[in-house]
Amino acid sequence: MADPSLYTYPDPLEGYEGLPPLPDERNADGKSYVNPPAAALSSAYDVFTSPITNGPRGGFDVHIYFYQTDAAQVEYATRLWERVRREFPELRTYALFPRPIGPHVVGMFEVNLFTPAQFGAFVAWLVIHRGPLSALVHPNTGDDLRDHTQRATWLGEPMPLNVGLFRRIEEERRRRREEEERGREKEKGKNGEGKI
Ligand SMILES: [Zn+2]
Repeated sequence: MADPSLYTYPDPLEGYEGLPPLPDERNADGKSYVNPPAAALSSAYDVFTSPITNGPRGGFDVHIYFYQTDAAQVEYATRLWERVRREFPELRTYALFPRPIGPHVVGMFEVNLFTPAQFGAFVAWLVIHRGPLSALVHPNTGDDLRDHTQRATWLGEPMPLNVGLFRRIEEERRRRREEEERGREKEKGKNGEGKI
């Protein structure tokens, strides 16, 4: 599902070329490295890394899953949902769905995160408070298929996701792009003839 060979990746050292070598010096623990100071804190503390959106859609969705046929899990999820709404009212929390919906194959509820600070606080909090439940943390970059597969992060056991819908939407988009491209090529051909 998250086959890394399906995608290409920017060089991690893009923008950091031609620098003097890193020092070999160690910290007082004798193990970790002394790093050269950076000019400023990484912008990742303030804004989500491109192409993750910083807009109203929310940079990340967190989907918290439960087996809707397991009374104890339903109870835990219901109580967790209430706790999230009370402790993190600034986050966007949706209804608790006691059945599969969209690509989600069991019951779940969804919380949206808008800033790196919210991500840092909520995901760290959820590591403890998710209890027996699994959670999917996925970015919103405009590529739904990749966001739910190669760019997804799981807390707890990964769950199956029905991403066929995203795949079909992507294929439809590609088909339309190719059609438009062919249309433009045809237009170009006609204009060329006109000039002669
Ligand atoms: Zn989502």
